[in-house]
Amino acid sequence: MEGLMMQQPLLVASLLMHAERHHGTQEIVSRRVEGDIHRYRYRDLAQRARRMANALAGLGIGKGERVGTLAWNGYRHMELYFAVSGSGSVLHTLNPRLHVDQLAYIIEHAQDRVVFFDLTFLPLIESVAPRVKSPKVFVAMTDRAHMPQVHGLSVELMCYEDLIDLHDDVFDWPLLDENSASSLCYTSGTTGNPKGVLYSHRSTVLHTYGAALPDSLNCSARDVILPVVPMFHVNAWGLPYIACMVGAKLVFPGPALDGRSLYELIEAEQVTLSAGVPTVWQGLLTHADATGGTFSSMRHTVIGGAPCPTAMTAAFQQRHRVDVLHAWGMTELSPVGTVCSFKTAQLSLPMTDQYAVQAKQGRALFGVDMKIVDANGAELPWDGNVAGDLLVRGHWVTRQYFGNDDTSPLRDGWFPTGDVAKIDPDGFMQITDRSKDVIKSGGEWISSTDIENIAYLHPDVTAAVCIAARHPKWDERPLLLIVKKPDSELTGVELLDFIDGRIAKWWKPDAVIFVESVPLGATGKVLKHQLREQFGNHYLSA
Ligand code: ADP
Repeated sequence: MEGLMMQQPLLVASLLMHAERHHGTQEIVSRRVEGDIHRYRYRDLAQRARRMANALAGLGIGKGERVGTLAWNGYRHMELYFAVSGSGSVLHTLNPRLHVDQLAYIIEHAQDRVVFFDLTFLPLIESVAPRVKSPKVFVAMTDRAHMPQVHGLSVELMCYEDLIDLHDDVFDWPLLDENSASSLCYTSGTTGNPKGVLYSHRSTVLHTYGAALPDSLNCSARDVILPVVPMFHVNAWGLPYIACMVGAKLVFPGPALDGRSLYELIEAEQVTLSAGVPTVWQGLLTHADATGGTFSSMRHTVIGGAPCPTAMTAAFQQRHRVDVLHAWGMTELSPVGTVCSFKTAQLSLPMTDQYAVQAKQGRALFGVDMKIVDANGAELPWDGNVAGDLLVRGHWVTRQYFGNDDTSPLRDGWFPTGDVAKIDPDGFMQITDRSKDVIKSGGEWISSTDIENIAYLHPDVTAAVCIAARHPKWDERPLLLIVKKPDSELTGVELLDFIDGRIAKWWKPDAVIFVESVPLGATGKVLKHQLREQFGNHYLSA
């Protein structure tokens, strides 16, 4: 028998309509590329998004067609999030940290009809434009007074605020099929060529419900949310949508992502919740430590995208009384898959045991199903010891890459994440490695992240990266690359002594190399494959 409930499609525009109606006076604050702070309210956002939807129609952008953005976190980008997806086109967020060749590849592959960009990225646009055929229009996200003088651009350059001014704010968001595409994001390419993940309205709204929950990112109408994670990277982990759903105040940092700028914004706007990758938080902590700064409003911070070292969790929680939510996700998962929130049993654990739990990537959200398997695909137990390939499936997991209809990435209906993980009996998943980063010593796996976590406990260590280096006897052995604090006199022997006793003897790296910096990818993650190319033969030549 069929249920007798309404069939209301799950649509991105509904989030904006909800925010306008129920939280219309809630504030959105943006640090702009132009340098100043901009403030307005959800009702202004909704009104301008409707104007922009009319402008897109005026530009002839049809349903399903892609609209590129090359922009920081800010209110204009937010308007495009809703104007583009809400009117049935596909928002394609471009990552400006990618190489020009990759950007051109992605724009052509996605067949973007128009590209909106922040002024910061004008030089990038000038390099990319001659290499791409699909976009006919580029739009500078600024007002007339700040429009750049550009010569030699073969395509039309338009002004964002002109488009807004020229169009009416009456627009009825169309009743779309909830399975139609809403946005597109290419994987950041730490491994292989970028691949497009095409989200649907339905997957986006379901992800929004799931990720907002108390044991997920824990967002409410009383929160002031600062998404540091870029809107060009997996929809800023869904926070723009979540903020609309719950009616939270939003604070956008624009291009200023250094420790001082973030700290000042957090304090000035009384931010309660923020989210970003560990490298960003390192900058914030360093600034707070150097200036004696404390956080007067921050309640918790979501750290993900790369493993969050225990030392960072401890710094936030002990020194600053800011709770850390360690989260794991992927572009292919919209992105949130697991969040490390305690169950009741963990609340009474001693602090060191609690930190050990928080080093894990956490429990699966409802909507994401996970399992670990061995090399033959057989499911492995959740005993907290055995590690295997992590597979997922669920409402917001991709089943196919964009423009890649012939091949499916799935294995028996499950998406192989490329991560290696163990899961404990309480369901807390812990990534031990990416399958490519695993160190295989004498046929046994060594977790590079465990070793990094321990190295981070040393007070003189700023960055720790453990890679597999080829070894004449053991195939591979761990090699530790360290960036140390500027005035530190730490030696490799001292650091190895420090590590000794904290892990199994055979896991201890054979050597430490001190480096000035480590290469970071487009989303702030360490490019381990580059380091492997550079240092992978260390033990062969030693
Ligand atoms: P890319 O795979 O191109 O780097 P993503 O941003 O989608 O792009 O990265 C997803 C990957 O990032 C995951 O598969 C995992 O390897 C890693 N990752 C994400 N969050 C965490 C985390 N909390 N701890 C460890 N690794 C993480």
